[in-house]
Amino acid sequence: TRIAVLNEHADGEKRVAATPETIKKFIGLGAAVIVESGAGAGAQIADADYAAAGATIASRSEAIAGADILLGVQGPPPDSLQGVKPGALLVAGLNPFGERSRVDQYAALGVEALAMEFMPRITRAQSMDILSSQSNLAGYKAVLDAAAEYGRAFPMMMTAAGTVSAAKLFVMGVGVAGLQAIATGRRLGAQVSATDVRSATREQILSLGAKPIFVENVKGIEGEGSGGYATEMSDEYKAAQAELVSAHIAKQDIVITTALIPGRPAPRLISDAQVASMKPGSVIVDLAVEQGGNVEGAVAGEVVVRHGVRIVGHRNVPSRLAADASALFARNLFNFLSAFWDKEAKAPVLPDEDEITEAIRLTRGGQVVNARLLG
Ligand code: NAD
Repeated sequence: TRIAVLNEHADGEKRVAATPETIKKFIGLGAAVIVESGAGAGAQIADADYAAAGATIASRSEAIAGADILLGVQGPPPDSLQGVKPGALLVAGLNPFGERSRVDQYAALGVEALAMEFMPRITRAQSMDILSSQSNLAGYKAVLDAAAEYGRAFPMMMTAAGTVSAAKLFVMGVGVAGLQAIATGRRLGAQVSATDVRSATREQILSLGAKPIFVENVKGIEGEGSGGYATEMSDEYKAAQAELVSAHIAKQDIVITTALIPGRPAPRLISDAQVASMKPGSVIVDLAVEQGGNVEGAVAGEVVVRHGVRIVGHRNVPSRLAADASALFARNLFNFLSAFWDKEAKAPVLPDEDEITEAIRLTRGGQVVNARLLG
């Protein structure tokens, strides 16, 4: 089995889909690994490091020709895959809803495209879940980005010159990123509160030593759909939550928003009027900015100032921690492929009827086959 590790083409993408560690492990399974020259540069991995791990360094066309498996962080532009073997596996974060037309092009190329972000949320797949591994780092980095934009300190400090009060930090959306944002805010000494539409997060917020901010006694509060993902809320709930949260936001110094609903635009959590209610010098970080944004006025790729409030909309936050993000992403890919590895064939064998492969397989035999895309 020949595994190719490709350079990323997306603007600003510094991550890479394999590390010397995972390459050694693939070689241990009997695979040969070809790395496109320069693939690790953004994550501080030199070609020589890959070569020392046993990989061959090659041009893109050499890497692609003859590859049985292509590894990427994001989906490669289909026209950059000329010469790919029909039936080759393409394993990456393919953004299937956002890049729907690419899925058709992957099918036309004959590759079997596997979208790692469609990994089901089952215990067996936890170690393969790129959304979790990358969101965790994004939640951490969001708090550091907020701290860097904030002209004040996070912890309370009692000094000879007087007392500095603790920053009030509010996390909206307590999934993987939100939980890490809470923990990071606490480590930095902020006074942390958080909210979510899933009432199950209340206990998690408390267990991290933060204060839950929840609408009570309103229909439709459960908000938990299949696999632990959020579903859309009732209008009644939305109104009540907006009111409670409005009052709370006006008192905050830092707000981190992380709310996503799979396959839909990000829910709007903060209006322009709510931004205006905050003190000048406050900071909002919108981690959902690329999915449409939780915050009115947030701009992807920019830090904008509205009503004296800095709204941070960095794109691709995991890539801002490219070395760690790559290490975890690469392990997610290895954990997936090795779980299906056939020792005799020295290749992965992906069964037709399996919860994991059925969920992530987008294309096969020239067709789009994924239920979420066809449904
Ligand atoms: P996500 O990235 O899809 O969304 C982030 C958070 O935003 C979620 O908690 C969601 O409930 C919340 N949200 C959505 N709309 C909102 C709104 N209007 N207001 C406030 N919050 C809103 O979520 P995620 O990080 O992927 O995690 C979701 C859940 O899945 C968590 O409980 C997580 O622990 C669980 N999970 C399980 C596995 C597994 O078992 N393999 C893997 C990953 C995550």
